Amino acid sequence: MSRFEFTVPVLVIGAGACGAVAALAAAETGAAVMVVERDDRPGGSTGMSQGLVCAAGTRSQAAHGIADDAEIFFADIMAKARGETDPVIARTLAENSAAALEWLIDRHRLPWELDTRFRASYGNSRQRLHGWPGHSGLDMVQFLHARMSDAGIDVLMETRLVDIFADADGRIEGVALERADGAIEHVGCETLILAAGGFGANRAMTDRHMPETQALRYNGHEGSHGEAIFLSEKLGAAVGDMGSYQGYAMLTDPQGISVPPPVLLEGGLIVNRHGDRFTDETTDIAGMVHPLSRQPDGLGWVIYDERIEARCAEIPELAALMALNAPKAGDTADGLARATGVDPDCLAGALSAAQAASERNVLDTMGRDWIDAPPPRAPYRALRVTGALYHTQGGLQVDGGARVLRTDGTPFANLFAGGGSARSVSGPSSWGYLPAMGLTTAVTLGWVAGRAAGALVAA
Ligand SMILES: Cc1cc2nc3c(=O)[nH]c(=O)nc-3n(C[C@H](O)[C@H](O)[C@H](O)COP(=O)(O)OP(=O)(O)OC[C@H]3O[C@@H](n4cnc5c(N)ncnc54)[C@H](O)[C@@H]3O)c2cc1C
Repeated sequence: MSRFEFTVPVLVIGAGACGAVAALAAAETGAAVMVVERDDRPGGSTGMSQGLVCAAGTRSQAAHGIADDAEIFFADIMAKARGETDPVIARTLAENSAAALEWLIDRHRLPWELDTRFRASYGNSRQRLHGWPGHSGLDMVQFLHARMSDAGIDVLMETRLVDIFADADGRIEGVALERADGAIEHVGCETLILAAGGFGANRAMTDRHMPETQALRYNGHEGSHGEAIFLSEKLGAAVGDMGSYQGYAMLTDPQGISVPPPVLLEGGLIVNRHGDRFTDETTDIAGMVHPLSRQPDGLGWVIYDERIEARCAEIPELAALMALNAPKAGDTADGLARATGVDPDCLAGALSAAQAASERNVLDTMGRDWIDAPPPRAPYRALRVTGALYHTQGGLQVDGGARVLRTDGTPFANLFAGGGSARSVSGPSSWGYLPAMGLTTAVTLGWVAGRAAGALVAA
């Protein structure tokens, strides 16, 4: 008698962007799909995100006159990671990102378009971030759940993966699932897709793999415990870049809402509690968390002005901060210093030095180039920020078909992974993260994995 209560052709663990996209892609092949999700409602890290995804060579880019393709994207990924990433995964993402996104747009009416506010920056040499104007990652995940419902895909909420079973040849046979009442069910599967996110909420794993994040707050999903990763490792799966993560230097304190990057790209800057600049704010969106955390109390102020506010006011995070009346205001540098408590002379010096560099068209003392967007002018706004760990970028080593690899380099026949559960392409640490690579890995590898699992079941 089978040890499994029932068997499903395609079983997907996790219902964030990766799991939902994988489920939709597998269902399209005609396979029956079941998704399990530990939480009681759609969300995950995807639901906390800004919902922005990289894709190279899309129709929306072309409509805005942006020339981009898989080769340019691949080169950007490799350059940002200083060559220290897996070229197979990088190529898979670069070559499939546009097809995956446009499939979601065409087949599932995903209203994504090029985000023209997000300039080519932080390693993306082209404008290639796509999103749903005025909407967040929570809208994205809810949208994908509605599409799964339309497609008749069963999603078991409040159900957690607690074990994976394989036969002597390493073929995945099924899983153990814990239901909300603590009952354990054994479910068989012909194929298994691991889309359970990363391990940012697993303190033992982050302490081990990225000890430099110990002092940082965690501002990711509390369900990111890494089960998909460590349960697969027990079966002999390989992992890669486990020290890789996205930190973020602009988590508002005390509101806990991210200041969106376009505030900096439009000319915003960051000073510490004394009013001094300490970094070029346009160089490294993820690694900037470390210079900030070395400042007094690990706190800073993002300073911008009315022009920048008008440009970014519709971005949901800034809109939420404005609705909370979070920004401090000052008609002059002195007034802003009073409102924020920073040293007035230092703040005035920082602002006038940036202004002078911009007017003379030279790099400022931080090495920042102000050609594309001038620094803030009075009247000013300011938001207090601290640094945080947002999500991990290392995980299960996969091949170009999103199949999980063993430590000897051979693939598991019917085990796939994507999103936060898989190794992404951000290098070994915090400095290799290209903006939106988290969701790009989720959406693109989800699409690749779902199609491959569906095809395997049909074969
Ligand atoms: C504040 C913030 C902003 C971000 N902004 C962006 C952005 O704009 N662009 C971008 O590219 N990236 C962004 N990211 C990163 C991005 O959100 C993630 O990389 C991406 O959402 C990962 O998708 P996923 O489907 O792999 O994981 P998730 O969305 O986390 O989905 C995994 C799901 O699996 C469930 N799960 C976990 N363990 C189990 C288990 N054992 N059994 C069953 N279910 C389980 C979880 O509850 C979760 O719902 C941001 C992250 C944060 C925290």
